[in-house]
Amino acid sequence: MSLSVPQQILDALTDVAMPRLKQEPGPVDLIRVQGLDLPVYRTGALVIGSGAAGLRAAVEMKRRGIDVTIVSQSAWGGTSACSGSDKQTLHTANTKDQGDNFRAMAEAIREGGAMDEDTAYIESVGSVRAMGSLQYLGLPLPQDQLGGTLRYKTDHDEVGRATSCGPRTSRLMVKVLAEEAIRLDIPFHNHTTAIKVLKDAESVTGLLAIRPKEATDANPYGLALYVCSALVIAAGGPGEMYRDSVFPNGCFGTLGLALEAGLELTNITESQFGISTRREGFPWNLSGTYVQVIPHIYSIDEAGAEHHFLSDYYRTTQELASNIFRKGYQWPFHASRMLDFQSSLIDLAIFRESQKGRSVLMDFNRNPLAIDVPFSLHRLDTDVKAYLHKAGADQTLPIDRLRHMNPLAIELYKRYKVDITKDPLEFAVNNQHMNGGIAVDTWGRTNISGIYAVGEASGTHGVTRPGGSALNAGQVFGTRVAEHIGSTTAANTPSQADILDAAKVAVAEINGTLAEDSPLTWRAIRNDVQARMSDHAGILCNAVDVARALTEAVALNSNIRSMGISVSRPSEYARVLQWQQMALASEAVLAALDHYITQGGGSRGARAICDPAGESLPQSVHGPLKEVRFRAERDADKKKQLRVRLVGTRPTISEVPNRSYGGDKSFFERDWPAWLTGDIFNQETARQ
Ligand SMILES: Cc1cc2nc3c(=O)[nH]c(=O)nc-3n(C[C@H](O)[C@H](O)[C@H](O)COP(=O)(O)OP(=O)(O)OC[C@H]3O[C@@H](n4cnc5c(N)ncnc54)[C@H](O)[C@@H]3O)c2cc1C
Repeated sequence: MSLSVPQQILDALTDVAMPRLKQEPGPVDLIRVQGLDLPVYRTGALVIGSGAAGLRAAVEMKRRGIDVTIVSQSAWGGTSACSGSDKQTLHTANTKDQGDNFRAMAEAIREGGAMDEDTAYIESVGSVRAMGSLQYLGLPLPQDQLGGTLRYKTDHDEVGRATSCGPRTSRLMVKVLAEEAIRLDIPFHNHTTAIKVLKDAESVTGLLAIRPKEATDANPYGLALYVCSALVIAAGGPGEMYRDSVFPNGCFGTLGLALEAGLELTNITESQFGISTRREGFPWNLSGTYVQVIPHIYSIDEAGAEHHFLSDYYRTTQELASNIFRKGYQWPFHASRMLDFQSSLIDLAIFRESQKGRSVLMDFNRNPLAIDVPFSLHRLDTDVKAYLHKAGADQTLPIDRLRHMNPLAIELYKRYKVDITKDPLEFAVNNQHMNGGIAVDTWGRTNISGIYAVGEASGTHGVTRPGGSALNAGQVFGTRVAEHIGSTTAANTPSQADILDAAKVAVAEINGTLAEDSPLTWRAIRNDVQARMSDHAGILCNAVDVARALTEAVALNSNIRSMGISVSRPSEYARVLQWQQMALASEAVLAALDHYITQGGGSRGARAICDPAGESLPQSVHGPLKEVRFRAERDADKKKQLRVRLVGTRPTISEVPNRSYGGDKSFFERDWPAWLTGDIFNQETARQ
């Protein structure tokens, strides 16, 4: 792409306006619970969250005649609507030339291990439909003149299955799906925060939420009751769990809510971390062309002195520059890529520099400073040189190469008052994605009847995932839960379940947490949880630190249970309860991590498990980096997942093998009846 693309086209891909929501329908009833008068809404299916995954589930349900309602903390909040990168990626089967091989794609999706084989195949084969239907709704994915989708390679993708609408792919997905939801007249309750799942002995019956606008003297918290026969949790990832985070503000997810409801979580030790600008400013991933143009990376100390700190790690200018380039498609930190002077040595160096209290910056007006000889586009590793040559990126300065390769990347920051054509960009290694989440089967069902989970709320990824597969998974499973819910007519009409008893219990629990005179505040809990997670459960972990962090997290939750959390203003009720649940979720992550490390688990994905007895020793130009000697991954750990459930008040860990997928090829005459009779929805998978 060159600057000859007209400005209005660039604007349309960066400033994506969202549609206007219709008026919300009012409650059908008012019931008295624990002395409060609470409004009641009845629906067949209820979706929590209006990101790309939740909207997909809602739209697909409505099309199948299901009576569906959406509740969302913030209609256009969350990661899909507010996050991106230089080319935000959707990972789907490659439609170029001879097409793709779904089995090979499934293998690539689950290559990092700890992923169910059937889920990987579902995401692979479902990707074609996910992409086609998004295009049908108007998602402007780029094509060549013959209709093939334009592709490139992304993280953990050796084939080139990535495509993109530009920096705002997921926001554009939300836009087209929301327009469809509005067109289909799906009731959409904005500013509604899910707080407690309601259920009877057998299955889900509804949800208790906070809607500030419902607050009255007889309902000071603004509580609202939703009665439903199917509940789809699509509330995204727990972005607030870490201080150093590129999630947009206010992403809590629902891991704590899920644990309290009795739902089982999986793989919550697995996250992604990578270089990005923080949410305190404009949270954005610095992947793709931002680094492929090879800017100068340096730090500034408190006295204002500049440090060419990467020269303390790499041996030559060529090695340094080529690895900066590779961060474009090896974006997430990966422990094993710290070895042999590969690209995650850059993440390590930046992380350590930030720990020294220095600011780390990327300057697009300077090429990397020399280590041995001056930087030259002619002295780069062969693959890097070839890519830049093919892209026509032979300009002298990184900013001109960026302007040539991806002008949208510059526009984007300009929108947020950061002009990278003039000023260097401050950034860090941040938490970006939760690969684990609520455990689901092949239809998105959880361990509680009637409850489904999709998108980042669900734990469908393994230790690693190809870039763009998160957005794909949300679309594929959003469709599958709709198919499953639609396979009976139970949710075609509003549920008439009696939720009074469950509501009483839920309101009593809330009353136990909200305390006017507790010394604990949600701000103190936030600072405590976020610092603990970023400092002790980030890219570098060790057994002692994690065990200590777990002890502290257990103590915090015990204090919350005994003292409650102080609340001074009605506007804080939802925040307080979300921090109570986040504190629980962080204990669950630490409990799982502690279990993994004490069982001998090695470094994988986002985390290096540092250990003086570890087999792997990263090197720097000055010699071995002994403090980050780490344990290698064990093959056996790839074949299983760590599950977490709340038993009493403590998150409890168990191990289960990955579900296998026999690979028995379908055969039309044999398998058609199961489709015609709906038997495919009842066939149990090997294991929940
Ligand atoms: C900087 C960045 C770049 C990324 N780039 C890519 C990429 O290139 N490709 C890719 O595949 N993935 C990428 N991801 C990940 C991907 O964007 C997310 O996994 C995905 O958008 C999640 O979609 P979702 O619908 O599950 O959740 P979200 O989009 O986060 O939506 C969650 C919804 O739930 C609502 N909600 C939350 N809590 C509650 C509650 N308690 N009650 C009611 N509503 C609630 C929110 O308001 C929101 O509407 C990126 C993530 C980040 C942070």
